[in-house]
Amino acid sequence: MRALVFTKPSTVELLDVQDPPPVDGEVLVKVRAVGICGSELHGIRDSGFRRPPLIMGHEFAGTTPDGRRVTVNPLLSCGACDLCLMGRDHLCRERAILGIHRPGAFAEYVSVPEKALHPLAPSMSFETAAVIEPLANGVHALNLARPAEGARVAVLGAGTIGLVSMLVARRFSDQVVVCDLSRERLEVAGRLGATAVTTSLQGEFDIVVDAVGAAATHRMSVQHLRPGGTAVWVGLLSSDAAFDGQQIVREEKHVVGSYCYTAAEFAHAVKLAEEIALDWTSCFDLADGAAIFGELMTGRQDVVKALLRPWGEE
Ligand SMILES: [Zn+2]
Ligand SMILES: [Zn+2]
Repeated sequence: MRALVFTKPSTVELLDVQDPPPVDGEVLVKVRAVGICGSELHGIRDSGFRRPPLIMGHEFAGTTPDGRRVTVNPLLSCGACDLCLMGRDHLCRERAILGIHRPGAFAEYVSVPEKALHPLAPSMSFETAAVIEPLANGVHALNLARPAEGARVAVLGAGTIGLVSMLVARRFSDQVVVCDLSRERLEVAGRLGATAVTTSLQGEFDIVVDAVGAAATHRMSVQHLRPGGTAVWVGLLSSDAAFDGQQIVREEKHVVGSYCYTAAEFAHAVKLAEEIALDWTSCFDLADGAAIFGELMTGRQDVVKALLRPWGEE
């Protein structure tokens, strides 16, 4: 089969590879749409967390051999460790993620455990369904903030995770501000329902979602919180946590990290995707994947979420 393979730092290549071998309890999903994640664009600059050669791709939808239209929860947990038993299966000690720890969906086919499949509503396109995984990240991030109705929310970053966080926050608040340096992306955020957009955040918020993860946004996320408010860090751009630690003490601000989603939150996102506008993606052929990766890595801004389609249009 054809697959886009992370072969060495900063390089992905379209290669012919072996089809995934049959495995008991797994099904071969024919990939119809797969999103390129920001974490992959940054993650391939070095081979740390993701090790080449690797077929990445963890945001996808497709069909099973018996004709089911599905999306897949790429986070596989053991179901037996202390964290799984606590309902915190996303923190499973044996956690494995498709496209990171085992082959993912930048390919014509991907093998996935039957239990990771989620059927799609008949009317949902594969393109929309490929955004369910990022949406689940937004669901988890806002759940961690334990929002009250009407909470004032700021979202730092108007990439995919920033947009889905804004869309989730808009369901309980009519004060959701999105901050980004890119006016193109702010325009998208405004069109999708952000109550305000800005290149320079002002004021105080009950919740700040940092969907960037740079030193500057880490600092801003704490600075613009009301006393007792919660900053949720989702972005992974930098490990530099430059913020005022004394504010955490004197103003009892909370800073929590958010990674992926529980199995229950993923299932919730599958339903939520039927009600939320997720049609702001741009589609490309798998064959153009390497070129698109290069353009996105060097800062192309007019594409918020690039989807690759190994089999063309539906
Ligand atoms: Zn992702
Ligand atoms: Zn576990």
